[in-house]
Amino acid sequence: MANLEIVQIPVLNDNYVYLMHNHDDKVTAVIDPAVSKPVLEVLKEKGWTLTHILNTHHHGDHVGGNLDLKDATDCLIVGAAVDAKRIPGIDVEVGDGDTFLFGSAEATIYFTPGHTTGHICYHFANEKILFAGDTLFAMGCGRLFEGTPKQMWQSLNKLRNLPGDTVVYCAHEYTEANGKFALSIEPENNDLQHRMTEVRKKRAMNQPTVPFTIEDERVSNPFLRPESLPLQENIGMTGKEKHEIFAKVRQLKDNF
Ligand SMILES: [Zn+2]
Repeated sequence: MANLEIVQIPVLNDNYVYLMHNHDDKVTAVIDPAVSKPVLEVLKEKGWTLTHILNTHHHGDHVGGNLDLKDATDCLIVGAAVDAKRIPGIDVEVGDGDTFLFGSAEATIYFTPGHTTGHICYHFANEKILFAGDTLFAMGCGRLFEGTPKQMWQSLNKLRNLPGDTVVYCAHEYTEANGKFALSIEPENNDLQHRMTEVRKKRAMNQPTVPFTIEDERVSNPFLRPESLPLQENIGMTGKEKHEIFAKVRQLKDNF
């Protein structure tokens, strides 16, 4: 297992950019640099040299710092092959099931369309780390700007099946609002109630609620819980297909 250190950098309103340093091989990646300046500042502080940018998708608040950082550091930019035209400065094009070596640490790429048609996630299986971009949020998921509900359900189901102790780093602090919605459609869920109490405490102290684990999501994220009978009943979808239940939950959240 590689010795990885991750620094969480809050930027813009509610974005998280992550710097990840591999102490074994002295390589450093930034995941979804919305902006460049705070990234360069942390690099300097830490004495790390940027070697890679890992992009999950093409939205401006994920790739906005790509070209500045490439100019400043000559790093390699990794992104989805299917979205190569929309990822500024892309050097390494990857697709579903591909592996990517970050020094000695190996990431498997998951193609997770739904939020956009070219979204990917980076899974470091040995280190139990997932960079989920805007696919999976704490108690939520990304809006469906380009994909269909069925695609997004399939994408989320892939992530749901990862080991429960996988630590998930997503790109936004949306947790408290997501939790309020989750409670509105599954108020009897004890794990959810419990989690929201913790989340409210953290947010009141302006602390991040990210990262979290896959297990946290299985028990409290309504988008991953189409099998929950109380949830099905509360939204009038008893006995429907999982992707249909997901679609209804997404639609309710969009109008919440
Ligand atoms: Zn996005």
